[in-house]
Amino acid sequence: MADHEIINADSIAAEEKKKPISLKLKWSIGTAIGATLIFAIFAVLLFQCFSNILFRQDQSYSRNALQATEQKLVNFNSELTVKNIQQTFDINYLPQNKSNQTPYKDSFVQSASRENIVVSIYNNAGKKLYTTKNQQIKFKKVTKSQEIRLKKDGNSYLLIRKPIYSKKNHHLIGYVQVTDKLAKYDQIRHKLIILFIIIGITVCFAISLMSYWLSSLLLQPIDALNETIDRINNNDDEAKALSEVRVPIISKGDELAEMSMLFNDMLDRMHRYVEQQQQFVGDVSHELRTPVAIIQGHLDMLERWGKDDPKVLEESIHASLQEIDRMKNLVQEMLDLSRAEQVEIQYGKEICDAREVGLQVYNDFQMIHPDFKMVLDNDLKTQTIAKIYRNHLEQILIILLDNAVKYSTTRKEIHLSMSKNTRYVEFVVQDFGEGISQENIKKIFDRFYRVDKARSRNKGGNGLGLSIADRLVEGYHGKISVESVERQGSVFRVELPLVK
Ligand code: ADP
Repeated sequence: MADHEIINADSIAAEEKKKPISLKLKWSIGTAIGATLIFAIFAVLLFQCFSNILFRQDQSYSRNALQATEQKLVNFNSELTVKNIQQTFDINYLPQNKSNQTPYKDSFVQSASRENIVVSIYNNAGKKLYTTKNQQIKFKKVTKSQEIRLKKDGNSYLLIRKPIYSKKNHHLIGYVQVTDKLAKYDQIRHKLIILFIIIGITVCFAISLMSYWLSSLLLQPIDALNETIDRINNNDDEAKALSEVRVPIISKGDELAEMSMLFNDMLDRMHRYVEQQQQFVGDVSHELRTPVAIIQGHLDMLERWGKDDPKVLEESIHASLQEIDRMKNLVQEMLDLSRAEQVEIQYGKEICDAREVGLQVYNDFQMIHPDFKMVLDNDLKTQTIAKIYRNHLEQILIILLDNAVKYSTTRKEIHLSMSKNTRYVEFVVQDFGEGISQENIKKIFDRFYRVDKARSRNKGGNGLGLSIADRLVEGYHGKISVESVERQGSVFRVELPLVK
């Protein structure tokens, strides 16, 4: 027992632990991940773009420096030496020697004087002859122009090496190496990375908060719905809860408001359904009470003093059998009623020839009730296909004709007319009997309703016939109506949709 309790406590604890992640949290995490991803892609693209622009700028400075140096060197006919190089470059460094040329106008000076650019010149053997600044990048001989990007001590460098050929005799006279330390490039890239990380974290955080707030706001109706379901489920009197508890409509005009309204409609319907069920159970037990009481009365009587009296015995058995028959009918009618409520689902696609069914029912009645004058007014000259299951049309007509017979008084005459318009086939059953008062006419389609209980009971009525007919007609999207004048008679009208 103790073990059992421990297991239960453990499983409850485990279930509590397994509590699902809330939709709000999922939503905000999802949005934050999505936004961060988009931002990251955007940041990477922007970063690449900036890097390229910065690199191209440095590349063009380096190429300019190389070009300017090359232009000066190609004029030599033989291999470069320290002496002729110094001559060439030192002259240019002294502006007073060429009065019209300032050092800033000389392209070599301009490009080589950049802080991060180092121009070095080598002879054919690869020996350094001249350099604008000291640098750590080693030289290697090359056969054609070469551009390399490399990293050294955490710094990026652009290296351009080129062999120099004499303009006149096309002999190799030396090499030039331009080294550009991409310091600004590295610095800006570094700053960009930090900037993007800070913006990324801020964006991710802000979007998570915002989407959490937004989802809390948007999901309020769902919370209200959950709360309502909980209140109904945890209420001891579920039927009462169904009638009282409804979802508050928080937002207006959106899908969630619509869902709340639909849910409330569903609760209304469930409430009506539960009420109907309770009413039905009450009605049925009430209806069954009378025959059961009659049978019990007869059996009591027989037990006390009727056993030996053959007349009493016969009467009691006869009366009891009659009541049992009534109960059988009642059960059958109740079954018919409950089936009539599901007619649309089960028989929604059935069709039949309404003319043929009408004629057959009319003939049967004529035969069963020879004491009645039956009048047929048939406007249906040819086959008339209606959207109804054959047996159900038959059942409706029998109920109406049966009532006409049951509630006829002195004038034993019944009229049945059949006609159609573009959309409906119409059956009208008219009698000249007791009629129905205006007060009762609204209730005759209700379950178990009888105008005069005792009289209807004597005629074998349970008050279910018209309810069955009403539900059947409704199930096939038809219409049923009645006009009646007390002591003069009634007219029941049924319209059923035709097959187009
Ligand atoms: P029942 O089995 O009692 O006839 P129905 O549902 O068919 O039950 O009818 C309900 C009540 O409507 C009847 O009890 C009766 O009072 C009244 N009613 C039905 N049809 C007619 C009619 N043709 N003329 C007068 N009263 C009628």
